[in-house]
Amino acid sequence: MEKAHEGYEVKDIDQPAGIVKVAVCKDSGKLPTALCARDPRGNRVYEELFIEGTQPTGLCENHVLVQVNRINGKLKTDNTPPGLVEDRVYVKKAIANPLAKDFQYTLITATDDTAVAPTVDIPVTPTIPITPTTPTTPTTPTTPTKKT
Ligand SMILES: [Zn+2]
Repeated sequence: MEKAHEGYEVKDIDQPAGIVKVAVCKDSGKLPTALCARDPRGNRVYEELFIEGTQPTGLCENHVLVQVNRINGKLKTDNTPPGLVEDRVYVKKAIANPLAKDFQYTLITATDDTAVAPTVDIPVTPTIPITPTTPTTPTTPTTPTKKT
Protein backbone atom coordinates (compact mmCIF):
# COMPACT_ATOMS: atom_id res chain seq x y z
CA MET A 1 0.00 0.00 0.00
CA GLU A 2 2.85 2.35 0.84
CA LYS A 3 4.27 1.91 -2.66
CA ALA A 4 0.93 2.78 -4.25
CA HIS A 5 0.70 5.97 -2.21
CA GLU A 6 4.26 7.01 -2.87
CA GLY A 7 4.46 10.61 -3.99
CA TYR A 8 0.97 11.51 -2.81
CA GLU A 9 0.33 13.77 0.16
CA VAL A 10 -1.98 12.72 2.98
CA LYS A 11 -5.42 14.25 2.60
CA ASP A 12 -8.24 14.28 5.12
CA ILE A 13 -11.54 13.35 3.56
CA ASP A 14 -14.59 15.20 4.81
CA GLN A 15 -17.37 13.02 6.15
CA PRO A 16 -20.26 13.08 3.72
CA ALA A 17 -23.46 14.74 4.87
CA GLY A 18 -26.19 12.55 6.29
CA ILE A 19 -23.87 10.25 8.23
CA VAL A 20 -24.28 9.92 11.98
CA LYS A 21 -22.03 8.30 14.56
CA VAL A 22 -24.01 6.35 17.16
CA ALA A 23 -22.96 4.22 20.14
CA VAL A 24 -24.34 0.68 19.82
CA CYS A 25 -24.20 -2.58 21.75
CA LYS A 26 -22.00 -5.26 20.09
CA ASP A 27 -24.40 -8.03 21.08
CA SER A 28 -27.77 -6.58 20.16
CA GLY A 29 -26.83 -3.91 17.60
CA LYS A 30 -29.20 -1.57 19.43
CA LEU A 31 -28.63 1.52 21.56
CA PRO A 32 -26.67 0.55 24.67
CA THR A 33 -27.96 0.58 28.22
CA ALA A 34 -25.74 0.88 31.31
CA LEU A 35 -25.64 -2.94 31.44
CA CYS A 36 -23.87 -3.27 28.05
CA ALA A 37 -20.76 -1.70 29.58
CA ARG A 38 -20.97 -4.11 32.54
CA ASP A 39 -20.73 -7.27 30.40
CA PRO A 40 -18.35 -9.80 32.04
CA ARG A 41 -16.19 -9.66 28.89
CA GLY A 42 -15.82 -5.89 29.29
CA ASN A 43 -17.50 -2.90 27.74
CA ARG A 44 -19.59 -4.05 24.75
CA VAL A 45 -20.35 -0.52 23.53
CA TYR A 46 -18.72 0.86 20.40
CA GLU A 47 -19.42 3.62 17.90
CA GLU A 48 -20.76 2.90 14.45
CA LEU A 49 -21.50 5.11 11.45
CA PHE A 50 -25.01 5.06 9.99
CA ILE A 51 -26.79 6.78 7.15
CA GLU A 52 -29.02 9.20 8.99
CA GLY A 53 -32.39 7.59 9.60
CA THR A 54 -31.03 4.02 9.61
CA GLN A 55 -29.44 4.15 13.09
CA PRO A 56 -30.96 1.92 15.77
CA THR A 57 -33.62 3.48 17.94
CA GLY A 58 -34.47 0.72 20.41
CA LEU A 59 -32.51 -0.02 23.56
CA CYS A 60 -30.51 -3.24 24.04
CA GLU A 61 -32.61 -5.94 25.65
CA ASN A 62 -29.90 -8.60 25.49
CA HIS A 63 -27.94 -7.47 28.51
CA VAL A 64 -29.81 -8.32 31.68
CA LEU A 65 -29.03 -7.94 35.36
CA VAL A 66 -29.82 -10.92 37.57
CA GLN A 67 -29.18 -11.81 41.17
CA VAL A 68 -27.28 -15.03 41.73
CA ASN A 69 -25.83 -17.08 44.56
CA ARG A 70 -22.16 -16.13 44.19
CA ILE A 71 -21.02 -19.55 45.44
CA ASN A 72 -22.83 -21.78 42.92
CA GLY A 73 -23.60 -19.12 40.26
CA LYS A 74 -27.29 -20.07 40.13
CA LEU A 75 -30.27 -17.70 40.12
CA LYS A 76 -31.27 -16.42 43.55
CA THR A 77 -34.31 -17.92 45.21
CA ASP A 78 -35.99 -17.21 48.54
CA ASN A 79 -33.66 -19.84 50.07
CA THR A 80 -30.45 -18.09 48.96
CA PRO A 81 -28.71 -16.65 52.01
CA PRO A 82 -28.76 -12.84 51.63
CA GLY A 83 -25.00 -12.64 52.22
CA LEU A 84 -24.35 -14.75 49.10
CA VAL A 85 -26.55 -12.73 46.71
CA GLU A 86 -24.61 -10.93 43.97
CA ASP A 87 -25.72 -8.87 40.94
CA ARG A 88 -24.37 -10.17 37.61
CA VAL A 89 -24.85 -9.08 34.00
CA TYR A 90 -25.59 -11.79 31.43
CA VAL A 91 -26.46 -11.86 27.76
CA LYS A 92 -29.94 -13.13 26.96
CA LYS A 93 -30.02 -15.36 23.88
CA ALA A 94 -32.90 -17.11 22.15
CA ILE A 95 -30.76 -20.20 21.59
CA ALA A 96 -27.77 -20.75 23.86
CA ASN A 97 -25.16 -23.06 22.36
CA PRO A 98 -23.11 -24.75 25.10
CA LEU A 99 -20.25 -25.18 22.62
CA ALA A 100 -20.05 -21.46 21.78
CA LYS A 101 -17.22 -19.45 23.34
CA ASP A 102 -19.66 -16.94 24.80
CA PHE A 103 -21.89 -19.58 26.40
CA GLN A 104 -20.47 -18.75 29.83
CA TYR A 105 -21.93 -15.23 29.49
CA THR A 106 -25.36 -16.44 28.44
CA LEU A 107 -28.22 -15.86 30.84
CA ILE A 108 -28.42 -18.76 33.25
CA THR A 109 -31.70 -20.52 33.95
CA ALA A 110 -30.68 -22.81 36.81
CA THR A 111 -32.11 -21.66 40.11
CA ASP A 112 -30.28 -21.86 43.39
CA ASP A 113 -31.00 -25.23 44.99
CA THR A 114 -29.69 -24.26 48.38
CA ALA A 115 -31.91 -25.98 50.88
CA VAL A 116 -33.18 -24.18 53.89
CA ALA A 117 -31.68 -25.60 57.05
CA PRO A 118 -34.27 -28.00 58.43
CA THR A 119 -36.08 -26.76 61.43
CA VAL A 120 -36.12 -29.19 64.29
CA ASP A 121 -39.14 -29.21 66.49
CA ILE A 122 -37.88 -29.61 70.01
CA PRO A 123 -40.75 -30.83 72.16
CA VAL A 124 -41.30 -28.62 75.09
CA THR A 125 -41.05 -30.72 78.24
CA PRO A 126 -43.90 -29.94 80.48
CA THR A 127 -42.77 -28.41 83.68
CA ILE A 128 -43.61 -30.28 86.81
CA PRO A 129 -46.18 -28.32 88.67
CA ILE A 130 -44.94 -27.14 91.95
CA THR A 131 -47.36 -27.92 94.72
CA PRO A 132 -47.60 -25.11 97.12
CA THR A 133 -46.30 -25.96 100.52
CA THR A 134 -47.96 -24.71 103.61
CA PRO A 135 -45.90 -22.03 105.14
CA THR A 136 -44.27 -22.99 108.35
CA THR A 137 -44.60 -20.65 111.23
CA PRO A 138 -41.29 -19.36 112.31
CA THR A 139 -40.13 -20.62 115.61
CA THR A 140 -39.33 -18.12 118.24
CA PRO A 141 -35.64 -18.11 118.88
CA THR A 142 -34.69 -19.21 122.29
CA THR A 143 -32.55 -16.93 124.30
CA PRO A 144 -29.26 -18.51 125.06
CA THR A 145 -28.66 -19.33 128.65
CA LYS A 146 -25.51 -18.23 130.28
CA LYS A 147 -23.44 -20.99 131.75
CA THR A 148 -21.64 -20.37 134.94
ZN1 LIG B 1 -26.24 -4.69 25.26
